[in-house]
Amino acid sequence: MSQKEGKAYVGNLDVSARKAQDLLLNKAKLGKLVDWATAFSLWPVHLTTSCCGCEFAATWSPRFDAERYGALPWIASRQTNFMIIEGTVTKKMAKAVKVTWEQMPYPKFAIAMGACALDGGIFYNSYNIVRPWQIIPIDVFIPGCPPRPEAVARAIIELQKMIRTKGLASQWIIKGYREEALKYYTGGEG
Ligand code: SF4
Repeated sequence: MSQKEGKAYVGNLDVSARKAQDLLLNKAKLGKLVDWATAFSLWPVHLTTSCCGCEFAATWSPRFDAERYGALPWIASRQTNFMIIEGTVTKKMAKAVKVTWEQMPYPKFAIAMGACALDGGIFYNSYNIVRPWQIIPIDVFIPGCPPRPEAVARAIIELQKMIRTKGLASQWIIKGYREEALKYYTGGEG
C-alpha cells in the first residue's frame, strides 16, 4: 500500500501491534493526547496511612473541591492510577501500601504528603517507621505537619504539569516501564 493510502501491517500480530502503537503514540503525536487525558484523570486510591488523611479528605470537601482538577478518590486499587501517601507509614502498613501499588495498572503516580512521609517527621527515629520513597516511586513531596488542602491541590497541579511536559504517561505506555521507577521492581538494580 502507498503512503497516501495509509499503512498495512501484516505478519506477527504482536510485532504489528507494537508498530501500530509506536506509530500512533510517537509519530502521530497521540502521546500528547494520552498525557493530557491522564493528567486530568488522576484517580487516587483510598489508602489512609495516618493523620494527614484528614487533610486529604478536606482537599476533596466542597470548600476546596479538588475534583475540579480532574482527580477523584476511588475505592478499588485496580481502577486507580494515583496514590497519595498520607503521612506516617509503619512497617505493618508498608506491606499494604506496596500490595496496593502493585495492583494499580500503569501509568501510575504517587505523592507523599506530610513531614512523616518525607523523612519520618516526629517519628524520624522510631523503630517501626518506613519512608514511603523506600517502597514506591514518589513524584511529588508535600512538606508540612499536616499540609493544608491548598498544598495538596498545588501538588496535584505540579504532578499534572510533570505528566504533560515530560510525557510520563505516554512514555510509560510505549516502554512498558518507567525508568526512574525500575529500581522498585528490580530490587535496586534500575
Ligand atoms: S505529618 Fe503530621 S499530620 Fe501528617 S502524619 Fe505526620 S504527624 Fe500526622
